[in-house]
Amino acid sequence: MKRLISTFCGLALFAILYCIMCLPAFAGEITGLRIGQGADSVRVVFDASSDFHYNVFLLDNPKRLVIDVDGTNVARSIENTKDKNNIVGRVRVGTLDGTKKRIVFDLQKPVTIKKAFMLAPQSNFNWRLAIDVNVASERDFASKVGQGHAVSNGTKNKSTSSVTPIKANNNNNAKKIVVIDAGHGGHDPGAIGYSGVYEKNITLAAAKELKRQLDKEGKYKVFLTRSTDIFIPLRDRVKIARKHNADLFISLHADSATNRNAKGLSVYTLSETASDKEAEALAERENKVDIIAGVNMFEQSKEVNDVLISLAQRETRNRSSEFARCIELEMRKSVRLISDTHRFAGFAVLKAPDVPSVLLEMGYLSNKNEERLLRQESYRRKLASSAVKAINRYFEDMKHKSLF
Ligand SMILES: [Zn+2]
Repeated sequence: MKRLISTFCGLALFAILYCIMCLPAFAGEITGLRIGQGADSVRVVFDASSDFHYNVFLLDNPKRLVIDVDGTNVARSIENTKDKNNIVGRVRVGTLDGTKKRIVFDLQKPVTIKKAFMLAPQSNFNWRLAIDVNVASERDFASKVGQGHAVSNGTKNKSTSSVTPIKANNNNNAKKIVVIDAGHGGHDPGAIGYSGVYEKNITLAAAKELKRQLDKEGKYKVFLTRSTDIFIPLRDRVKIARKHNADLFISLHADSATNRNAKGLSVYTLSETASDKEAEALAERENKVDIIAGVNMFEQSKEVNDVLISLAQRETRNRSSEFARCIELEMRKSVRLISDTHRFAGFAVLKAPDVPSVLLEMGYLSNKNEERLLRQESYRRKLASSAVKAINRYFEDMKHKSLF
């Protein structure tokens, strides 16, 4: 009897092990589907609990957009998405073989796949696979049928797009990376103040003070784009922020105006259209330095323009604006602001597609009083202290907010 029991137990154990081995090794699940329609385009976003392999392509007779996925389950509930559209139509989910699943959209119109990319988790979102399709001619559709458009290799290659989406940072306790950029430097003095002080020296002193105070907080990794009096082209400043994988980029400046009464602090975020003539002129002044150095920063504008419409860029802009709001709230308590404090302009230095960035004009060096203040260490300490509060507030807000 004992022997029978042990044989039975052995068999049961074997059966259990066998079943476990046969279970498809699903790492996670596609849990949701959202569809956003533009005039002639659609963005399809799948929410997933983990990264997975995917292959996106078109099939004809009838016209279909197909997403084959591997290593993930697909919740049938995505077939009931409430998002309506008249381009990609309705969705169906089926099993191909083994661990492979097929998601099929019955196309209402001929389309081409513009891009497909995986977004790593951030804010309240988990993994997302985004697919952009554009309405196309029958001919264009036919020429693309069957071509594997976007194949991911899973975690090793998270994205087929050239833009790294805002990086994953599941762990809210991880040290945030802040890159502080002291405007100008070297042969480029920046604005020259009322009594002849150079903007490049004020920005460097302010950047070092801000780094000192941020380091003391103990929850940031802080880098300066320059810590000495050297010239760095604007696009290299952007590269430095990206290289460090920055969560936030702050470029420090001090303005100058022919009107010596002009005063106050303002904060800028990127926009292709400046909020007013003054903002436009300022961006022109600040951007000019690269051309002076013989480097045309507009060379990269095509790449940047491609990026501007991307999801990552939109998120970055929203975040930049959010940070600008924090700056305004905190600075207001201790410093004079100009009336419309948060402004927009096409600053080259703010064009990192995936790093929330602001440019802070700390005041007017052309104004006698503000120049005097900005030269004072105590005033720069006060400015930095407000900036630290704004940075703390921003990252605190980001924990609870998602902007896409
Ligand atoms: Zn400047």
